[in-house]
Amino acid sequence: MDLEFSAEDRAFRDEVREFFATALPADIRDKVERGLSLTKDEIVRWQRILYDRGWIAPHWPKEYGGCGWNAARQYLFNVEMGLAGAPRPIPFGLNMVGPVIYTFGTPEQKEFHLPKILRSEIWWAQGYSEPGAGSDLASLSMTARREGDEYILNGTKLWTTMAHWADWIFVLARTSREEKPQQGISFILVDMTTPGITVEPIITIDGFHHVNQVTFEDVRVPVAGRVGEEGKGWTCAKFLLANERQAIADIGAKKRMLTKLKRLALGVSRGGRPLAEDADFARRLADLETQVMALEYTELRYLDAQMRGAERGFEPSILKIRGTELQQALSGLYMEALGQYALAYPEGFEEPGRNEPEIGPPGTQGGIAHFLFSRAATIYGGSNEIQRNIIAKILLAAA
Ligand SMILES: Cc1cc2nc3c(=O)[nH]c(=O)nc-3n(C[C@H](O)[C@H](O)[C@H](O)COP(=O)(O)OP(=O)(O)OC[C@H]3O[C@@H](n4cnc5c(N)ncnc54)[C@H](O)[C@@H]3O)c2cc1C
Repeated sequence: MDLEFSAEDRAFRDEVREFFATALPADIRDKVERGLSLTKDEIVRWQRILYDRGWIAPHWPKEYGGCGWNAARQYLFNVEMGLAGAPRPIPFGLNMVGPVIYTFGTPEQKEFHLPKILRSEIWWAQGYSEPGAGSDLASLSMTARREGDEYILNGTKLWTTMAHWADWIFVLARTSREEKPQQGISFILVDMTTPGITVEPIITIDGFHHVNQVTFEDVRVPVAGRVGEEGKGWTCAKFLLANERQAIADIGAKKRMLTKLKRLALGVSRGGRPLAEDADFARRLADLETQVMALEYTELRYLDAQMRGAERGFEPSILKIRGTELQQALSGLYMEALGQYALAYPEGFEEPGRNEPEIGPPGTQGGIAHFLFSRAATIYGGSNEIQRNIIAKILLAAA
């Protein structure tokens, strides 16, 4: 195993670091630092800066407008992005439907959609989960009945992140009923302005509007919007889910959180002493730092295996489980370090009549919202229990 990066890769890392230090707008950096949610305009503004630099799609092949970087460069780029506190581009277009379109789509679909995804002109949402289908996705019941050169969609999608901002949504729908639930599903691209689509907000535990319920009632879409063959959408669905777990360990952001925690522990006092001198707190912080290092080396080992052409194994599941558990543990310790100030709610929180000034250490008010929303991290992207099943199946099959 070789965990050293080449001189070229190290030079690349310096270039990326310099870019993030200078190109990330100060207002966006500040909001991310505070743990506050960005608006759609702020996200698009940042994504366009990445686009102008040619770095919006590190993993896409060059022929489709991506960087075509190898796994090492993608890793270095992602770590630097997290370390700099730069927002990760929204995955629904770039990481999910974009690769599905360039892998399985028609020339017309590629020509129409890919440039718009790269330029953040179209905002995508992911319509997979339903009220009766989450972990067991193949039990989905949305239907797409064919009539001439149109499909008529009926059903409900649930937990659809940012669908209230979306211009298009990709859905999995049943075009026929077959013996096996995975068969008869099609992958369909839908313009959100099509009549019959209703988006209703779901307010999550942090008090914000991230997710939605999207209802389709006799929604007519062209058959030309189907990606891949009719009834073979499960192939696209699985391909997309494998991409979804990329860079999920988010090492850069975790290291940044550790630095924030250390700074906070030096600045707040408990019992007349800096919190950093509290032996129990210091022990737990050191323990988390060790676990982040262990995760980093696990990711590097996986990276090394990928660079040597190894098959994709259970490692992405391990990275997802440990990455999200540590994300939650770090935000939990941050809450403890803030003590009573942890309850101060973020600026911008939609509470009628709210006019109090910020309290507590400056720049920490987004902590509680971040802590609460990060509870969802072990659920979305394939719950951690499902990831454990995947690890067990691969290991038992190999035993
Ligand atoms: C914040 C957030 C954003 C989301 N965004 C999107 C989105 O944009 N688009 C989209 O399509 N979906 C989205 N989801 C949905 C997400 O993919 C599902 O919540 C997830 O797949 C789990 O499905 P479920 O909620 O139906 O729970 P269930 O599948 O009903 O699971 C309930 C519990 O049972 C456990 N469980 C289920 N099956 C097994 C098993 N076989 N073995 C062991 N344990 C099991 C689960 O781990 C979980 O703890 C989002 C979810 C959240 C919370």
